[in-house]
Amino acid sequence: MAETRTPVNALLVIDMQVDFITGSLAVPDGPSVIDPVKEIIQLPFHARYASKDWHPPGHISFASTHPGKALFGLTTIHPPQRLAIANGQNVQWIAEHGLEQVLWPDHCIQARLAHSSSTLCKRIRTDPGVESYSAFQDPWGLLISNLEGLLREKGVTDLYIVGVAGDHCVKESAIDAVKACAWKTWVVREGVRSVSTEGKEWDTLKSAGVGIIDTISDLKTRLCV
Ligand SMILES: [Zn+2]
Repeated sequence: MAETRTPVNALLVIDMQVDFITGSLAVPDGPSVIDPVKEIIQLPFHARYASKDWHPPGHISFASTHPGKALFGLTTIHPPQRLAIANGQNVQWIAEHGLEQVLWPDHCIQARLAHSSSTLCKRIRTDPGVESYSAFQDPWGLLISNLEGLLREKGVTDLYIVGVAGDHCVKESAIDAVKACAWKTWVVREGVRSVSTEGKEWDTLKSAGVGIIDTISDLKTRLCV
């Protein structure tokens, strides 16, 4: 049966920042994603949003914060006590909620970045002890961004996601978007680059219920452009 609903289409651009394109944590083939994302931004969405990585120096995700640990190695991080307690949790909950964390090069440090007024999504990666790949919330649910509220306020029915990195912040944002059960969610593959070139994230996204759109041409068809 033909679709009769009137969609409200929103675009979410994840972390299109110099450090992820050509900088300290550049994804492979990073510069090649710029033109596709620019083209996608020009399409007639009803609303456009952007997220930004924005860490204080000494962030928990930086290898430099963990002396003796290897770059791109793993460590276990726990919810910061002050935030957990403020959210009604206790010491036992903190101990039980350790997460594996990749140790990245220093990247997207606040003092080194010009603040962009075009970023609408409230930043949630500013706490030195919390890492959040998702633009919606951190994995412990301690810090929630304003993104879900912005999308609901606008009456968004369909959310399209592009940007970097596909296997981290794009993937986790898309999965959180599906969990919100408020809009259909797609990732546009032509507008995404990942840290790993293995492509495992695409199966994970499909399993989570995220739609995959391969090309800008397919996206245009979907948007009736
Ligand atoms: Zn980061």
